[in-house]
Amino acid sequence: IKRIGVLTSGGDAPGMNAAIRSTVRIALYNGLAVSGIRRGYQGLIEADIDDMQIVDVGDIINRGGTKLLTARSEDFMTEVGQKRALDVLRMFEIDGLVVIGGDGSFKGAKRLWDMGFPTIGIPGTIDNDLAYTDLTLGFDTAVSTVVSAINNLRDTSSSHGRVSIVEVMGRHCGDIALFAGLAGGVEDILVPERKFDLDEVARKILQGRRRGKLHSIILIAEGVGKSYEIAERLEALIHQEVRVTVLGYLQRGGTPSVTDRILGAQFGQRAVELLLEDKFGRVVGIRDNKIMDMAIEEALNEPKRFDQDKYDLAEILSL
Ligand code: ATP
Repeated sequence: IKRIGVLTSGGDAPGMNAAIRSTVRIALYNGLAVSGIRRGYQGLIEADIDDMQIVDVGDIINRGGTKLLTARSEDFMTEVGQKRALDVLRMFEIDGLVVIGGDGSFKGAKRLWDMGFPTIGIPGTIDNDLAYTDLTLGFDTAVSTVVSAINNLRDTSSSHGRVSIVEVMGRHCGDIALFAGLAGGVEDILVPERKFDLDEVARKILQGRRRGKLHSIILIAEGVGKSYEIAERLEALIHQEVRVTVLGYLQRGGTPSVTDRILGAQFGQRAVELLLEDKFGRVVGIRDNKIMDMAIEEALNEPKRFDQDKYDLAEILSL
């Protein structure tokens, strides 16, 4: 391998820049040339590619988003698009590719590897929905962002004795709600992995009120259902106004946390090492505090486990 390419794909996540910086600098340090591919697989198909030097990744470790830009590419979902991507990689004399993104991006990376092109995946998505790794890039920062929002809401909710519903990201995976709920000390956490009973939620709020609790914050992952509808049903049960705050894209941005920066550095390093060792078709991750790697296919097949212990703990602590 003489030249590697790097791209970011799918939703952006804080820490992607740290991973780009590390990938580029570790590759250059090892005498490889680096091509930066802009706008994910779409940019690859359109040959939106430039050489990258050490200075090109200066001043980005502290920035959210991705310097290489990202995209979702319909074209790359087709065989024609994938062949075109392969042609472009060959045309630019790229011998190995580092893909930073979520599970969709990994499926794309697997396609390239199935066609014989050396590819390595780095998990970058705020959702933490990849089962094989304890953490994905961006998750830690997103959770901190949600916790800050909860802190602010707590102040105003306490002053007014209000009930608040906070909707966070997570269509299938409730990790952001779970971790932020535990860290933020909220009254209830509703996640797509577990059924909820609104009567139970209401009872808890009413009990808390009787005990003199000044506020109630309920965290809902977006996959649970429509927050405004849930709020209306809850209002009818507790006879009190329920305010909804949808955090939305706020959760995607922000300066990356220490954890995401260090993870980005380590993931980039392992990704380049794998390419140098001729180990392809793999993804990097972290398990039990150790950087690890495994076959893409195996990683994609691993079912995501819900952290029931944390869920139960949050439930007990919110009594
Ligand atoms: P996030 O978790 O932030 O949504 P993601 O990587 O899962 O990130 P997707 O939109 O699912 O985001 O995937 C990004 C891109 O990867 C898609 O736009 C598409 O180009 C490519 N991709 C997704 N699934 C496949 C697939 N089955 N085969 C080939 N390419 C795919």
